[in-house]
Amino acid sequence: MNKIKFLGTAGARFVVTRQLRKSGGIWLKLGNTNVLIDPGPGSLVRCLSSKPKLNPLDLDGIILTHRHLDHSNDINIMIEAMTNGGWKKKGIVFTPLQAIDEDPVVLKYVREFLDKIEVIKEKGIYKIGNICFSTPVRHHHGVETYGLNIYGKKHSISFISDTSYFYGIEKFYKEKILILNVVRLEGSDKIGHLSLNDAEKIIVSNKPKLAILTHFGMTMIKAKPWILAERLTNKIGIEVIAASDGLEIDLDKT
Ligand SMILES: [Zn+2]
Repeated sequence: MNKIKFLGTAGARFVVTRQLRKSGGIWLKLGNTNVLIDPGPGSLVRCLSSKPKLNPLDLDGIILTHRHLDHSNDINIMIEAMTNGGWKKKGIVFTPLQAIDEDPVVLKYVREFLDKIEVIKEKGIYKIGNICFSTPVRHHHGVETYGLNIYGKKHSISFISDTSYFYGIEKFYKEKILILNVVRLEGSDKIGHLSLNDAEKIIVSNKPKLAILTHFGMTMIKAKPWILAERLTNKIGIEVIAASDGLEIDLDKT
């Protein structure tokens, strides 16, 4: 089964620190390759408490889109879990240089447990098992951040991680399933996040088969994301859903 599992859907500081939504990241399985994207606080607990349980030993790798804690907090424990406490050397961590360079979020001693660390850069193309992915453009987000286009044999997914809207962003993320981190209901913030209006603009332009909103900040939570998604679907005629904690998408049925 090819699937996307949302271990958590919390975005930005207040929703994460108060755990108004969970914050474990996204588990992706494509053609028997398992990858965890942005293991925020609670990722390990969310894997082990999932039904059915997700076994971190099954992971082939972990991708960090950037160093912010809501995306990287559990990276070290997930490396330990993926490598059976460091006894089974395996796996690749993909990360921007900034997350392993100065003030690193990936501790040096756990790096030894991995097959390798691969530094992601703008316009990079990477491979892990049966998955290929690209990082087409550096995002506008304060710290070094990339979105992903992910390709399996049968499926393709665009994932727009944290960024403020910038001119032309649409052209970088054209895959059939489009996941967007939508922190804000409206307006912009200092750090740089998409608002719901920004997301709408991108979805209308790219017409994915399915758009999935996630990584919600307080203003989105208060406005009930599932209602916003339904309204957007009716307005633009493209299927938009709001992810919920634990939501699993069977890609073979989409
Ligand atoms: Zn961020």
